[in-house]
Amino acid sequence: MAEYVDRYDVGSLESTKRQYTDIDIIKRIISQYIFRHRTLFILDIALIFVKLITILAGPFILKVSLDFFIMGTPTQDGEWLASIIYSIARLYHPSPDTPSLLLASGLLYTLISMSQWLIGSFQQYFTEKLGTMVIADIRLDFFNHINNLSQRFFEYGNTGRLVSRVTNDAEALKKILNTGVIGLTADLLLGVSVLAVMAYLNLQLTIVALLIAPILALTSRLFQQWIKTAWSTARRNVAFLTSKVQDLMYGAKVTKALTQEERSLREFDEVNEQNMQSQIKAETVSVTFSSIVILLSSIMTAAIWYLGGQSVILGAQTLGQLVAFNQYASWFFEPIQNLAMLYGAIQSAITGAERIFMVMDQEPEVIEEKEAIEVTDLRGEIEFRDVNFSYVEGQPVLRNINLKTSPGEKLAIFGPTGSGKSTIINLLGRFYDPSEGTVFIDGYDVKELSFTSLRRAVSIVLQEPFLFSGTIEYNLKFGRPEAEDDEMIRVAQLVGIHEVIAQLRDGYQTVILERGSNLSFGQRQLICLARAILADPRILVFDEATSSVDPYTEAKIQETLQREMENRTVIVVTHRVSTVRDSDRIIILQEGVVEDDGTHEQLLERSELYRRLCEMQLVSV
Ligand code: ATP
Ligand code: MG
Repeated sequence: MAEYVDRYDVGSLESTKRQYTDIDIIKRIISQYIFRHRTLFILDIALIFVKLITILAGPFILKVSLDFFIMGTPTQDGEWLASIIYSIARLYHPSPDTPSLLLASGLLYTLISMSQWLIGSFQQYFTEKLGTMVIADIRLDFFNHINNLSQRFFEYGNTGRLVSRVTNDAEALKKILNTGVIGLTADLLLGVSVLAVMAYLNLQLTIVALLIAPILALTSRLFQQWIKTAWSTARRNVAFLTSKVQDLMYGAKVTKALTQEERSLREFDEVNEQNMQSQIKAETVSVTFSSIVILLSSIMTAAIWYLGGQSVILGAQTLGQLVAFNQYASWFFEPIQNLAMLYGAIQSAITGAERIFMVMDQEPEVIEEKEAIEVTDLRGEIEFRDVNFSYVEGQPVLRNINLKTSPGEKLAIFGPTGSGKSTIINLLGRFYDPSEGTVFIDGYDVKELSFTSLRRAVSIVLQEPFLFSGTIEYNLKFGRPEAEDDEMIRVAQLVGIHEVIAQLRDGYQTVILERGSNLSFGQRQLICLARAILADPRILVFDEATSSVDPYTEAKIQETLQREMENRTVIVVTHRVSTVRDSDRIIILQEGVVEDDGTHEQLLERSELYRRLCEMQLVSV
């Protein structure tokens, strides 16, 4: 167990420390979500009240027919109902005798039961509808929030878990509504009103019935903690399982390549087993609790009959009263039993809600300023001034970076693996903000620019060519959906991917499988390249954009792109000297520090590192 906890508990998001109380969570769901659909909610609660009346009416009909028509011990409190039953009987019998009166009672009882069922069904339907609507809202808010969260969040929050949150946890949240907020309200109402009627019928017996309450409270308290822990472990294990499944799916090829199928099966088996065990344990604890409640309720019933029966014989109360009392008492235990059964579900729902809210309460690190500047005509002058950056505190990745490009310049960043090239790009695109120093575009601090201005001005081809599920056209036009087809084809031709696309059966309408698995890695890179160019930005950034394309094709692309790049500032990150050579300026980055800065010729002359890298790549010097 510990192994998986360690491996997957990246960051602090999964800590078991409570951040909110149950009440906080329920309050938040009501005020933030249910309130949006208040008409439906009010209707739902109103139906609960109507249903309550029908529930209370049933045993009373039994009591009246027993007392008035069978036992002949009428009581004053039932007279009104007896006369109603009498009128019903008179509808088909001019002077009703006992059988016709009993028939009338039966009819009335059936009518009440049927309306109880009908109202109950409607109420359940509305609850379900409300739940579904609220979940849809929460999912949307959740997704919206995730979209705004900074890059760091995705790197430290395990994505498998995020998926589990949007699906499993949100689904569990629905239960809070059905069984929690609404179910509890209904149960509470039922419990209180039934207790009131019981006290009215027979105060002494009610006190006896309530003697069981402290035992019940004690048991609940004891079980509460067990159930809570059992369910939260169970939920955490579901999340582990989701993560593991994702890992294994995405890594299936690697597993095969390294012939580790057996091991991955073993690992999965372990997580799966763990998940199963924790579910079983949680269920067992819940069921044990509800069995104890049932046992207690039987003891109470026995006590009621024993004591109540004697008082009927002594004439202290009527048989009708005892029967009705007993029925009410069983209704009284129903909400408590429900609570026991639903406690687990409610607990896991609350845990689910808590996880969702924990993510929703994560402050985005990179935020758009309130009065962000909207600029449409940026020229593309980039400046890094005294920029320092670290992903993890105390481990600087970029140190004192100063660099400046003039608009339209072609700048190459060159340096060994891990030297911080992609990090520079991350700061320019504001995926992160510098720890110290400032990044400017045309003299504007990038932090002052609105996200749209910045993202319109800067188009980045990331090192990892990511394609969305959808057609090739959808992917190409992702940055500028309004682009014309002609333009799209022209750009595709420029980067040399048009031929490939044209040969596909559905051409530009070909559906890209999950993350582009039906295209080669190089082809994916080219599509990403075309996507960035089609977005028509002032600043184009290529982070190893063509690293998997063969050198010949790459050279050809470079040639054709020359004209396209004329009026744009271009930053190229690459390991290839052949790509770097034609740049206006080359920056050599090593261990997060700008080592040197100059043209190919200048650097060949004075930079030992550059010369060495060139020689290794067999470039004629
Ligand atoms: P490559 O040529 O392999 O793409 P790079 O020059 O682009 O390398 P960066 O990705 O900028 O290198 O990484 C610079 C340093 O920062 C590396 O030491 C890396 O381990 C570290 N690093 C990168 N991303 C993160 C992250 N998200 N969290 C923590 N450290 C990171
Ligand atoms: Mg990189």
